[in-house]
Amino acid sequence: MIHSAAENRYQSMRYRRAGRSGVELPAVSLGLWHNFGDTQPMEVQRAVLRRAFDLGVTHFDLANNYGPPYGSAEANFGVHFRADFRPYRDELFIASKAGWDMWPGPYGNGGSRKYLLASLDQSLGRMGLDYVDVFYSHRYDPDTPLEETMGALDTAVRSGRALYAGISNYGPDEHRRAVRILRDLGTPVLLNQSAYSILNREPERGVLDAVGETGTALIAYSPLAQGLLTDRYLNGVPADSRMAVGHFLTEDALTEERLTLLRALNKLAGDRGQTLAQLALTWILRDPRVVSVIVGASSVRQLEQNLSAVGQPDLTEPEIAEIDRLCAQ
Ligand code: NDP
Repeated sequence: MIHSAAENRYQSMRYRRAGRSGVELPAVSLGLWHNFGDTQPMEVQRAVLRRAFDLGVTHFDLANNYGPPYGSAEANFGVHFRADFRPYRDELFIASKAGWDMWPGPYGNGGSRKYLLASLDQSLGRMGLDYVDVFYSHRYDPDTPLEETMGALDTAVRSGRALYAGISNYGPDEHRRAVRILRDLGTPVLLNQSAYSILNREPERGVLDAVGETGTALIAYSPLAQGLLTDRYLNGVPADSRMAVGHFLTEDALTEERLTLLRALNKLAGDRGQTLAQLALTWILRDPRVVSVIVGASSVRQLEQNLSAVGQPDLTEPEIAEIDRLCAQ
């Protein structure tokens, strides 16, 4: 039976405007990089997606090669979309991307027009969608003229395959150049999707400034540092965790110093009546240039805990300073 979404689904979520655009996104969005490939049971995927939408998560973030295997997260999302979300298409903001390796040969990676537009067509086919809401260049490709990559995003929008253009993993100078090129073409950049967390301050070294200056928005990925900024690894490595089963988070991330920091942050969170995950999300959302945090979740319980960060008290200046002090140790 098709999902009948909760009547009160817009009650608890907060929506934030993406830069100087007409688009508002949920403070917490859901990413399908992990946990939606062929290795995760479809019932778990379905339960997480349904619960997310019922709690006001309108934004689902995908990319061509999410899985494993590549393409399977989009294909599985297509199954869930057809089963549960088709009547709600206009309430959803769905993203895809191309830029990293996807298929063999010279046209399945990088920033070429050839790759981006072919990949977008494949993504639409896998998800069973007529258009995505935002299509990203997944990375800056130094070997392709930026005019070509941005021209492909402009074509994606003008041809109706995407409503907005996005860039991901672009540094500050690349961000400014991309914004200029797309502005001249008449298709503004909506979002720069960048890794940002208490443990990864990279956007503070220029990207956030570029975002603020250009009226675009930063959307933060891996806000929980792939699970490090949660209670997942405070007492060992659980057998079902990303660190145990995946390739992107390895045990060298869990040094004694790191664990000491995580435990101190966990204590600070507890003193505020939050979990560590909630503290980590509240910390990112303190900056209005960040429109949303894209979390991953392998269970409904994790998702619910993360969404409960919305509306929890802002951090005070002394708390922010204390987090900085702990991180500097
Ligand atoms: P997170 O930092 O939110 O990590 C998610 C993982 O943390 C989960 O899979 C889970 O790990 C663990 N977790 C989440 N919530 C909790 C909780 N409350 N308690 C305990 N553990 C928890 O994000 P991701 O790294 O998954 O990235 C999020 C999204 O960002 C991706 O899905 C993708 O859409 C996007 N992204 C974009 C990139 C880009 O280049 N543009 C790159 C990377 C991500 P476990 O599985 O072990 O349970």
